[in-house]
Amino acid sequence: MKAIRGATTILKDSGDEIKAGVKELLEKIKTVNNLSDENIICIMFSNTSDIRSYYPAKAAREAGFFNCALFSSLEPEIDGALKLCIRVMVLAEIDNEPKQVYLNGAENLRKDISKRLNIAIDGPAGSGKSTVSKIIAAKLNLLYLDTGAMYRACALACIRSNVDCSNEEKVKNILKDVEIDVKYDAVRNVGGAQITYLNGEDVSDKIRTPEISMQASIVSAHEFVRVKMVEIQRRIAANNSCVLDGRDIGTNVLPDADFKFYLNASDKVRAERRTAENRAKGINQPFDEVLDEIKRRDKQDKTRKIAPLIKAENAIEVDTGSMNADEVASYILMLIQKGI
Ligand code: C5P
Repeated sequence: MKAIRGATTILKDSGDEIKAGVKELLEKIKTVNNLSDENIICIMFSNTSDIRSYYPAKAAREAGFFNCALFSSLEPEIDGALKLCIRVMVLAEIDNEPKQVYLNGAENLRKDISKRLNIAIDGPAGSGKSTVSKIIAAKLNLLYLDTGAMYRACALACIRSNVDCSNEEKVKNILKDVEIDVKYDAVRNVGGAQITYLNGEDVSDKIRTPEISMQASIVSAHEFVRVKMVEIQRRIAANNSCVLDGRDIGTNVLPDADFKFYLNASDKVRAERRTAENRAKGINQPFDEVLDEIKRRDKQDKTRKIAPLIKAENAIEVDTGSMNADEVASYILMLIQKGI
């Protein structure tokens, strides 16, 4: 007898969703393990506490699993746990090594045995990319890679060396020996906050100023800067399931990303958000100035020759103007879970 494990996530706590999710999961377990009903001895479910509308075991019986013992249990509420998740263990008589089945959002519960997932979230400044990406990464148990932070660190390196970010030769000279790196600190934040390093120094907070925002936009237009940063980004994405936010993820960094989204909102809304964010950090920049900077940065990012900010052809555009970050994240998660 062998134990086959599996899990799936559903979209909402309703009887129909639970029945459909259980059926899909069990059918897949049967298919990939070449199981017939007679081989299955027992099926045990556990589900997260946000699923209450129906017993997964009852759903299994209704899906035609008549010959085996069935059992359902409820998991405790745990902070940061994957939402709306049904886990299963199937005990069966099989000779081969059992194949585990992790579907939908649950794919990422077992990154070691499920496929790598890369989600690209692009858009202009203030469109909500980073807040939304963090929520999605935490919910799906993925790494969050803030690619803008890497260009910001390049800008900081130039500013510290008194180099004009638009002077390609000088920038090249400075950055050729500069080491930019990102690491993840699970202590700072649930899910692991990104820490951005410049030559080994943690510069995560120092790169969040209006001056660095503008200079990052200027420095990021140089080809060799992009080549250097994109190489690091692709390496991280190749080794981890992650949500990457930036300007060129869906078009250039990961044209084959599993999911691509392009967030947008009006200039005014984006400037209002950025003004409020600045204020929360103690930076009292007037709204008009923020609006002007956002417009200038958009223009620079959209008109540069290499990898400009543009919606990838197959990206889904989301207007975040009338939604808060949780609403945008829920909408995107719904699309991801559906597999679109
Ligand atoms: O996203 P964030 O505002 O931190 O990005 C700062 C700047 O870095 C952007 O204005 C853009 O010029 C550049 N950037 C980029 N490509 C990315 C991410 C950011 O060119 N993937």
